[in-house]
Amino acid sequence: MMTENLKQSIKRSSSILNYLILVFCGIVLIACNSNNKQVKVIKKQHSVLEKPFKFWVWSSANAESSDQDFDEEFKQYSMHGIDAVLVNTEADANLLARLVPFAKKYDLEIHGWMFTINRPNDQIAQQNPDWYAVSRDGKSCYDQPPYVGYYKWLCPTRKESRNHILSLVEGLAKIDGVTSVHLDYIRYSDIFLPIGLLPKYNLEQNHELPEFDFCYCDVCLTEFSEIHHKNPKNFTNPAIDMEWKNFRLNKVKAIVDDAYEIAHANNKDLTAAVFPYPEMADHMVRQRWDKWNVDAVLPMIYHNFYNEEIDWIGYATKQGFEDLKGKKTALHTGVFVPSMSAKELHTAIQLAKDNGASGVSFFDGNAITPEQWKVISNFHK
Ligand SMILES: [Zn+2]
Repeated sequence: MMTENLKQSIKRSSSILNYLILVFCGIVLIACNSNNKQVKVIKKQHSVLEKPFKFWVWSSANAESSDQDFDEEFKQYSMHGIDAVLVNTEADANLLARLVPFAKKYDLEIHGWMFTINRPNDQIAQQNPDWYAVSRDGKSCYDQPPYVGYYKWLCPTRKESRNHILSLVEGLAKIDGVTSVHLDYIRYSDIFLPIGLLPKYNLEQNHELPEFDFCYCDVCLTEFSEIHHKNPKNFTNPAIDMEWKNFRLNKVKAIVDDAYEIAHANNKDLTAAVFPYPEMADHMVRQRWDKWNVDAVLPMIYHNFYNEEIDWIGYATKQGFEDLKGKKTALHTGVFVPSMSAKELHTAIQLAKDNGASGVSFFDGNAITPEQWKVISNFHK
C-alpha cells in the first residue's frame, strides 16, 4: 500500500521530470534545422514521456528499389511513431547493410528478418537435394513441397543444412547497426494449417496426415533410433509417440539456441516470429518457443487465420506472456493489419498492451492504411 503523501510526492517528481524532458526536447528541437532531425526528436518525445511500448513493422526489401524508395518508406515509419523495422532481404547481408543508414537517419532500429528452415529460392540449398525435409509418405520438399510451391523446408537435423542456415544467420549478425537477427519459419512445415486457411486449400485435417508430417529422412530416423531404439516409420500412430514429437521440438530449439550464440557473439540480439502461443505452436508446427534462448518473440496473433474474434489477441498474448515469466525473453504481439478496421486496430494494440506485451508488430508495413496510421501515431498521445 502507498501512503497519500508518498503518492503526491511521486506525482510531483514525475511532473517535474516530464517538464524537464519537455524542455530538453524543446531545446533539441530548436537546435535542429532539418526535417529529418525533427522527425527523430518528435519520436523520442513519445518514447521518453510514455511508458515504453514499442511499435514494429515487418517489411520486405527489394534490391531493385532505389535509395529514394527506401528513404521514403523509413521516413513514413518514423513519422508515424514506429520504433523498429524488421526487413526481409531474403538473408542478403549486402542489401541489409545498404538499408542501415536509412534506419539510422530516422532513428529506427533495423532487424534482419530471414526465412530460417523454410528456404525458398535458396541457390545453395537447391544444389543439395538431400538437405530437404522428407514427409512420412516419402516426398522431399526439394521437388514435392506440401501446400505451396514456396514450402522448401530443409531438414533441421542434417549437419550440412543446419550449418548452411547458421551461416546465413551469421552473415546478417555481422552487419554493423543491425539490432537483431529475426528468425521466421523457424519450425516444421504445418502439420495442421490454421483453420481459417483450410477452405483455401480444400483440405480437412482431423489428424496428422502423412504428407504434412516431417522429417522422415534417413538422418533423422537413424539419429532418433540410436537414442530411442525405435523407428518412427514403424509407428501405427506417430502422433502419440512423445519421444518422436520431442525429438523434433528439440531440433528446432537447437537451431535457435545456436543462432542465439552466433547473434550474441556479434553483439546482436536474436528475435523470432512465432505461432500465437506455445501450446498452439507445438500442436500446429512443432515449435515450443517458450523453451528457446531468444531475446524477443513476436507471436503472429492473426485472429482471422483462426476464425477468432479480436479479443483472442488479448487471450493469446496473455498465454505467451505468462509462459515467459521468469525468463529474459520479451514478447511483442504481431497483428495482421489487412483484416482490421482502424477501430479494431486500436482495440488490438490495447489488448496486447493490457495483457503483458512489450509492444506490437504490424504485418506488414506497406499494408497500413492512412486511417490505421492515425491510430498508430496517436496511440501514445
Ligand atoms: Zn531429416
